[in-house]
Formats: sequence, structure tokens, C-alpha cells
Amino acid sequence: MIKLLKNKFEQGYRTSGYPKTPVELPPRYRGLPAIHQDAPGEMADKCEKACPQRAIDAKTRRIDMGRCVFCGECERISEGSFVSFTRNFGISASCREHLLTDGTLPSLAEHAKAHFRKLFGRSLQLRQVSAGGCNACEADLNVLATPFFDLSRFGINFVASPRHADGIVVTGPISRNMKTALLETYNAVPAPKVVIAAGSCAISGGPFFGSPEVSEGLESILPVDLFIPGCPPHPLTHLHALLTFFK
Ligand code: SF4
Ligand code: SF4
Repeated sequence: MIKLLKNKFEQGYRTSGYPKTPVELPPRYRGLPAIHQDAPGEMADKCEKACPQRAIDAKTRRIDMGRCVFCGECERISEGSFVSFTRNFGISASCREHLLTDGTLPSLAEHAKAHFRKLFGRSLQLRQVSAGGCNACEADLNVLATPFFDLSRFGINFVASPRHADGIVVTGPISRNMKTALLETYNAVPAPKVVIAAGSCAISGGPFFGSPEVSEGLESILPVDLFIPGCPPHPLTHLHALLTFFK
């Protein structure tokens, strides 16, 4: 017992103060892209061509964050003159179109559906569905349960059965083989329920987009309430999205 208490004393309190205390992410982190509208047209075209995800529209000078895998190639080749990534991790949206950004994003809080807050603001139980992803999205969702993020202190938990859940969090590009399992899980969740697409794969197919083996994004299969971009989304992006949308 003494050993346990000594250990606890030495370890101290490790849980993040977020959202009360702001968190500064390292400079290498890529969050909301800043798109410099005054950059030369040739540079925008060059970035559009170089983007492996076809996420850049050089004409309208927008980036589709639902497709972007935040590889940083556009920032590298334009040396930050067309695109530079900020450390803003609050990049989620309640509409797919909002992810097509010119560097700005409507406030998620303003667009959150009030009835979800009323229903799940005090307790939100989620079932995760891994639908053919690479496991990085799932790993970063798991991190939310660690003492640092401690998701359960907000009344949000991941549960084993869809019958105990208020909604599903889908990761991965929804391979053909996973579609039935996804639909069965969704149907097993009692109404009213929420659907969250987490990661570029679930939102648009991610690096697998265009393959006949995957879907064109969760929205082509189910009504999605919340889109959390990233490849994978940072745990703070998840936390920001869940707290802003439901709390
Ligand atoms: S960071 Fe996103 S927009 Fe830029 S090149 Fe990579 S995938 Fe394309
Ligand atoms: S979005 Fe990226 S990290 Fe997530 S499953 Fe797809 S490839 Fe993996």
C-alpha cells in the first residue's frame, strides 16, 4: 500500500487540463491549413498536381480536408507560400461541404444539432466500428481512454455492444467485406442515434479512394452527423469535436 501511495505521489496528476487549459501542439503538427489566396497561380497548379489525394482545387483555392491525409507535400513544394499548416486541431465539421475549406471553417458549436446536446450532453456511449482501416485511427481513438485524455471524465465512453450505445464511430474506408457488419451494427443501436465518421478513410475513402473495394465515404451509406478529418485524426481533434458537438 505504501509503495502504491509513493508511486502515486511520484507520478503526480497526469490528466490534461484541456479544455480548461489550452494545449499547444508541437510545430510539426499539421492542423487547419492556411491557404494563401495571393500565391501565384502556377504554384497553386503545381500543388494541385502534386497532391496524392486530389484534395486541392487550384481554381477555387480550397482544400478538401475530408480527402487530405495531411502529408504536407503541398506545404513542402510551395515552401509555405500557397499552403501552410497551422496547429489548430479543431477541424471537425457537421457537414461534409464544410470540410472543403479556403482556410476557414464554420464553428462546429454553431452548427451542432441542439437535440443531440440535449439527448447525449450528460452521457454518450459509443461503439467503434473498424471498417477496413490501417489501425492508426483506431489506435488514436484508444488513446482517448488513457489517463492523459481520460475521455470518461466527460461522460463519454466506448462500449462493447451496439445495443448499449448511443451511436457509432466509424473508421476505415468501409471495405466491401465490412459493409454488412457496419450496417448490422448501425441497426443494432437503438434510436435516436448518432453517426461519426473519423478519419479521411471513413469520410472519403482516404488513400484508398477510387478503389472498387471500398465505399466513397460513409455518407454514401449512412446519414453522418459529425466528420472528424485527419489521417489519423489527433486525439485532441476527437476530443475537441466530441466536446464541442455534444457538450
Ligand atoms: S497535405 Fe493534403 S492537400 Fe496537401 S498534398 Fe498532402 S494530401 Fe494534398
Ligand atoms: S484515415 Fe489514415 S490513419 Fe485512418 S484508417 Fe485511413 S489510412 Fe489509416
